Amino acid sequence: MRWRFVPLWQRWRSRGAALWQRWSLWVLLVGLVLGMLVILVYLAGRYEASQVQDRIERDAADIAADVRGNWVRNQHALQTLPQSLAPSYTEALPWHSSARQLLQKHPELLRIERRDMRLQLRVAAESPFQVGSIDGSRQNEMPAATALACNQVRRTHAPSYSSSYFQMLDSGLGYELLDICLPLVSDGQIQGFVIASYQLREVLQQWVAPRLARTQEVSFTETDGARLALLAAQRRGSKLFTAQHLLDLPGYTMVLRLDGWHTAPDVFPNVLTALVTLMSIALVSVVFVLVRDNRRRLAAERDLGEALAFRQAMEDSLVIGLRARDLHGRITYVNPAFCAMVGFSALELVGQHQVPPYWPPELAQDYAERQRVRAQARQLPPREGYESVFMHKNGSRFQVMIFEAPLINADGLHAGWMGSFLNVSEQRRAEELSRTTQERLQATARLAMVGEMASLLSHELNQPLAAIASYAHGCVNLLTAPSAATSPTDTAIPTAQDLADVRQATERIAQQAERAGRVIKSVHDFVRRREQVHERFAVEELLEAVLPIIRMQARKLEVQVELHITPGLPQLRGDRTMVEQVLLNLTRNAMQSMDSPDIEPSQRRLQLSIQASPAAAGRPAPGAKIWLAFAVSDCGSGISAEVAARLFTPFFTTRSEGMGLGLSLCRTVVEQHGGALHYAANLPRGTVFRFTLPAVE
Ligand code: ADP
Repeated sequence: MRWRFVPLWQRWRSRGAALWQRWSLWVLLVGLVLGMLVILVYLAGRYEASQVQDRIERDAADIAADVRGNWVRNQHALQTLPQSLAPSYTEALPWHSSARQLLQKHPELLRIERRDMRLQLRVAAESPFQVGSIDGSRQNEMPAATALACNQVRRTHAPSYSSSYFQMLDSGLGYELLDICLPLVSDGQIQGFVIASYQLREVLQQWVAPRLARTQEVSFTETDGARLALLAAQRRGSKLFTAQHLLDLPGYTMVLRLDGWHTAPDVFPNVLTALVTLMSIALVSVVFVLVRDNRRRLAAERDLGEALAFRQAMEDSLVIGLRARDLHGRITYVNPAFCAMVGFSALELVGQHQVPPYWPPELAQDYAERQRVRAQARQLPPREGYESVFMHKNGSRFQVMIFEAPLINADGLHAGWMGSFLNVSEQRRAEELSRTTQERLQATARLAMVGEMASLLSHELNQPLAAIASYAHGCVNLLTAPSAATSPTDTAIPTAQDLADVRQATERIAQQAERAGRVIKSVHDFVRRREQVHERFAVEELLEAVLPIIRMQARKLEVQVELHITPGLPQLRGDRTMVEQVLLNLTRNAMQSMDSPDIEPSQRRLQLSIQASPAAAGRPAPGAKIWLAFAVSDCGSGISAEVAARLFTPFFTTRSEGMGLGLSLCRTVVEQHGGALHYAANLPRGTVFRFTLPAVE
C-alpha cells in the first residue's frame, strides 16, 4: 500500500467534483423517473379518453344506422297503405284504418295525410298518442318545407324529406317535426302524395332511448349546430365526449349527435391510470429509499475517509516502524518510519516475496528458517517481542525489537502478520555505556573504601606485628643469652626450658603472622576485582567475607556488633561482591554515624539482622518470590531533613574524607537485584537501613 501526498485544496476540489458527479446522477435519475411518471399518467389519461371517444363514436354510428333503418322500414310501411285515391269519404275508410294502425304501431309518427296532385288534403289520420291537435289551418295548408319536399317528389318520383320545422298545437305545446312526402304513382303518373310527420323527439325516444346509457344524451341538430330535438342524460359527469353522425336523408340532411358524460374524476379516469399512479408512487418511494440509503452510505464513506486520514496521520507520526505481511511472507504494507529505519523506499519493499533486502546476508538463512518453522507450526511469536539484527541500505547493522501480532481481516480470518519495529541499537549502546560507567563507579567506590581500609589495616596490623616483634626479640634473647649463662659474655647452652619458651614464642609468632595474613586476605578478597556474576551463595558465606572487615572497623571505632540471623535461611542469588559491598557500606555508615564524642562507647551498638521476608517464612503463594530482608541499625546521629533530601544523590557526603558514592551505589545494586532499599529513624535514636534481596526458591 502506498500513500501519496495530495494537497488539501486539491482533495477538497476532487471531493467536491465527486460529490457533484454522484448527486447530479441522482438528480438526473429522479428527474427522469418523475418525467416518465408524468408522461405515463398523461398517456394513460389520453388512452382512457380515446377509449371512451371510440366507444361513443361506435355507439353514434350504431344509432345512426338504426335510425336510418327505421326510417327506411317506416317508408316501406307508409308505401303499403292502400293506393286508390277515392274521392268519397267511404272509399277512404280502409286507408284511414290502415293509417291509424300504422300510427298506433309507430308513436314517432304524428300524422299521416293523403293529398292530391294539387296538394289538397284528401284524408288524414292523427296519432292516438298526440297531446292536442294541430290547429285547423294545417288541415289544408301545409308548411312550406313540406310543400318543397312534395315538389321535389313531383320532379323525381322518389320519396323526399322536408327540412324540420316547428309545429304549434292547440294545446299550446309544440313539436319539432320532419315530414316525408311519398308519391302515389299509378301508370307511371303521380296521382297524389302521402305525407307523414315525424315528431323528432319521439323518434329519439322510440328508436334510440332503449339502447342509450344513463350517461349518454342524444340529439338531432341542423348541420349548423342548431338543436332540433334532445333526449337528455339522466346522469352527468365531469367530462363530455361527443360524436356526430350525418343523417343524409333524401332531400334533407341533419346531424345525429351523441354526447357521453364521463363520471370518473379527471386525475384517475380509470383503473389503468390508478394502477400507473400506484406504480409511480411505489417508484417514487423506492427512489426516496435509495436516496436515503445513498445519503447514509455517503456519511459512512465520509466517516471512513476521516478514519483513514486519522490512521494515516497516526502512522506517519509514529517513530515505530510498521510492516504487514501476508501468510506467504510477502510484504503488503510498510509505514514511513519503517522505510526510514531500513533505508529502502516502500516501492522497493512492498510486494517483496523472497529475502527482504534488510536481512543481513550472513543471517538471512537463519531468519528464513525461523520464519518457515513459525509458519509451519502456526505458532504465535512471543508477546513480549524478540530481538533481531537488520541491515540498513548503507550496509550498517542495527538491532531491532520486533513485536508481531496476527492480522485479522474484515471477515475475521487470519490474513497475515502485523509487526512493529523499534530500533534499539541506541538503547543498547546507552545501556552498555551505563553498565561500564556503573562498573567504573563501583570500582572507584571500592578503591575509596580501600583507602579507608589502609588506615584500618595499619591499625589492625600494628598489634600482631608488635607482638611478632616482641616474641622475636624474646627468642633472640633466649637463644643468645640462655638462662644458664652467668654473664652476658658467657656462651652457655640453652636449657630445655629455654627451648620450650622459644618454641612457644615461635608458635605465637606464627599465630600472629596468621592473624595478620587473615586481615590482609580479607581486605585482598574484597579489593580483588571480580566480574559481575550471578551466583547462588549462602548467607553464611556472605558473613564470612564481610564480618572480619566489619569487626575490624568496629574495634577501631569501639562499636559493639550484634548479629540477629535466623538459622536455616535460603540461599541468595545475585552478584556476591556487590552484595558484600552493600553490607560493608551500610555498616560503615552506621558505625561512622556513632563516631562522635557525644556517644558513649557503651552505647555504640550496631545491629545486623537477616531474616526471610513473610513470603518466605511460611505461606508462600505459588509462583511468589522468596525474599531475604536485611536491616542495619545504629544509635548514631540520625539523618536530618536536609541530608535526607539528597541522601541518595551521587557525590553527596557530609564527611570530609567521604566520596558520597556509597548509598547511591547501594540503591543501584539492590534495585538491580529486584529488591528495594529504604531507611527509617531507629527509635529512640539513630537510623535503620533496610533492603531486600531475592532468595532461591
Ligand atoms: P559517604 O559515606 O562517602 O559520605 P554515602 O553515600 O555512603 O557517602 O553517605 C552519604 C551521607 O549520608 C553521609 O555523608 C552521611 O551524612 C549520611 N549517612 C549515611 N548513612 C548514615 C547513617 N546511618 N546515619 C546518619 N547519616 C548517614
